[in-house]
Amino acid sequence: MDKIYHSSITGKYRSIKNAVNAALLLIYFGASWIRWDRGSFAPKQAFFIDLPERRGYFFSIEIWPNELYYIAAILVLSALGLFLFTSLFGRLWCGYTCPQTVFVDLFVKIEEFFQGDRNTRIKLDSSPINKEKVIKKSLTHLSWLLLSFLFAFGWVCYFYEAPDLLHDVIHLSVTHGGVGWLLSLTASTYLFAAILRHRVCVYMCPYGRFQSAMLDSDTTVVTYHDWRGEPRHPIDKHTSTAQDVKHGDCIDCGKCVLVCPMGIDIRNGLQMACIGCGLCIDACDSVMTKLKRPTGLIAYDSINSTSAKQSGILFHRNIFRPKTIFYGLIMIISCSLLLYTLAHKSRYIITAQKDRSALFVITPDGMVRNTFLLKISNKTLQTQKLELNLEYAYNATFLLQNMMQDYSNNCTITAPEDSDVTYKIFVKTNKHDGQSESPIKFIITDSNGVSAQTSSTFSQ
Ligand code: SF4
Ligand code: SF4
Repeated sequence: MDKIYHSSITGKYRSIKNAVNAALLLIYFGASWIRWDRGSFAPKQAFFIDLPERRGYFFSIEIWPNELYYIAAILVLSALGLFLFTSLFGRLWCGYTCPQTVFVDLFVKIEEFFQGDRNTRIKLDSSPINKEKVIKKSLTHLSWLLLSFLFAFGWVCYFYEAPDLLHDVIHLSVTHGGVGWLLSLTASTYLFAAILRHRVCVYMCPYGRFQSAMLDSDTTVVTYHDWRGEPRHPIDKHTSTAQDVKHGDCIDCGKCVLVCPMGIDIRNGLQMACIGCGLCIDACDSVMTKLKRPTGLIAYDSINSTSAKQSGILFHRNIFRPKTIFYGLIMIISCSLLLYTLAHKSRYIITAQKDRSALFVITPDGMVRNTFLLKISNKTLQTQKLELNLEYAYNATFLLQNMMQDYSNNCTITAPEDSDVTYKIFVKTNKHDGQSESPIKFIITDSNGVSAQTSSTFSQ
């Protein structure tokens, strides 16, 4: 696929794109600077992924490694949202909010700034190497690299506290891991946004490929109203600009093609490469306005609405279709489940692992003893005093290793805030006949009565 030289255009959809780009970039670069106090032991960043500690922070919500299903649920919800959005509005995600589109838009602006408009850029590229060409190209690529580094910096801020990263970059003291991420992300952003551009959408992104499965005749897509535009005919400069009754409204000026960042002609119908950005609409509307003809020859429209307009029938858009109802219902159910589980997130996780080196030992007083490793994850932000109890079919007592106490039925243990703690526990009971393995349960309860439990087996 050849390089595309597209022209810039002003208009309603270009303005919307600019506003959306500005808002998204503000969120991208700004969200990592929002502070959130979780105490001295936890990161003070509202959105933060702590890879060494294997934690995810989202304001007061903290995701532990064993809760990755929340991330899976959010990804599934995002995919469903995208399906619903696509079946209603086509590929507006691609045209307005996809990071690739937003980044490429900025890269193109830099290219235009240093190398000029479409015709100047074509002329510069086809000219032999000379001083002017080297300077313009070098400045463009240097600025692209700087911008790529800024995007990489913005991303790494979510994994390396933002103020620390800024400080370490300025003082050239970023960790080796941080440098690796910054350099690899700078290189990939430069490759995707400066070099590959539209090829990413056409050849690499799977979304464009399966979008046709989500579109139907009620989906809003960028549409050329051929019933109004055809037969297209160049305008005769020597005659009036008023509409020629024998010809359609399209004057075959090609402006809609020149502004298309994907280099396609929407007059050939909806194509996989079309990202729904609406720039061809702005281009055509500007032509129609100059010719004093109605705008909307190219417009966001559905097949059914287009047919109705062609036949002069009043059309009511139907957004409640089986497909959209299905996606909507699944989203509502999934969202409710996610919010419910987040609101009732467990405060503690407790697991008991049997010491397998010796299934059991007989103590000098004739009792049977088993050893367990009890791991408690305290997900609260305070150190907790927990009462530990045992549930077993026979009389049993336990003793914690390194604790100066005798075997007892319950005891109080400490679980430090926001971390895991492991206790070695010796459990003993009267030797008895019966099954060689029987269930045993460990229960912890905090001062607020919140409890968690785990089961294992006692061997004799
Ligand atoms: S055809 Fe129009 S809407 Fe589609 S990508 Fe090109 S300019 Fe954007
Ligand atoms: S911009 Fe409008 S008038 Fe010009 S070629 Fe495209 S559809 Fe036809």
